[in-house]
Amino acid sequence: MRIDLHTHSNISDGTDSPQGLIAAAVAAGLDVIGLADHDTFDGIDIARKQAEIEGIELVAGIEISAQYQGTSVHLLGYGCDQEDAPLLAELARIREARDNRVPRICEKLTELGLPLAVSQVQAQARNATSLGRPHVADAMIAAGYVADRQEAFDRYLQGPARVRRYQVELSQGIELIHQAGGAAVIAHPWGRSAKEVLSAAALASLVAETGLEGIEVEHQDHDEPARRQLRRLAAELGLIATGASDYHGRGKKNHELGCNLTSPEAYRELQQRMTARAEARAAWRR
Ligand code: AMP
Ligand code: FE
Ligand code: FE
Ligand code: ZN
Repeated sequence: MRIDLHTHSNISDGTDSPQGLIAAAVAAGLDVIGLADHDTFDGIDIARKQAEIEGIELVAGIEISAQYQGTSVHLLGYGCDQEDAPLLAELARIREARDNRVPRICEKLTELGLPLAVSQVQAQARNATSLGRPHVADAMIAAGYVADRQEAFDRYLQGPARVRRYQVELSQGIELIHQAGGAAVIAHPWGRSAKEVLSAAALASLVAETGLEGIEVEHQDHDEPARRQLRRLAAELGLIATGASDYHGRGKKNHELGCNLTSPEAYRELQQRMTARAEARAAWRR
């Protein structure tokens, strides 16, 4: 069983359409694929339809922009009710902050001598309902300012053209996922900035306070020592250890589909927790 639980389509900042993503998953020999676009469910229904046609299992996911102690943390939700009003309201708020950030980034780039208009970014975003810095990067590539997304981030988007935006508090995000009948997994907890705030003690208190289900362990942002420590930590805290490519199509190098996998045992456990959350939600609504 090849299970890759965290990927992106061009409904957020991936480059494959939801249908194209499923075709790529089949080509990569995956049995199960989780679509977890940033702050939107808009790709799920199309992906599910295509997955049924191609005979592959789709897990409905989402990657929510959250923050913990002022630092950006990505939160994966699996099996949420896509019609859940409080969750949808929060996602709309986050996407509005994403939209509002784009003109401010364009202004900063223009001041830095790289004139860029919002319309140029929108032209790159095409199918996306969740606008992100990778779309700004694509517009910068099209304008000939940088060679690829990596250079755009390294030189500008996480440097002089960085603009902060609203993100939901991590514990509130976990609660929203649970109330929507889903299971919560922290994405790449020790990648980039999050490592500084998500200590073993912080993770332990999150488990105790929120009932967090899992952490993403096998991820390209984690080197082998980090993975070893996270595996041990997950076992100690009773967390499900997942693995995924965080595939973004052509948008991210070295993140090919299936480059990291979730074990069948971990996936079975996640399915059980998703079922339990969905049943709890149904009982609560009755
Ligand atoms: P945003 O969602 O607008 O805050 O932008 C963050 C997204 O940009 C992440 O989800 C990554 O997919 C992507 N990203 C971050 N750093 C890089 C990079 N160096 N190269 C390509 N994509 C990146
Ligand atoms: Fe992304
Ligand atoms: Fe992420
Ligand atoms: Zn991701």
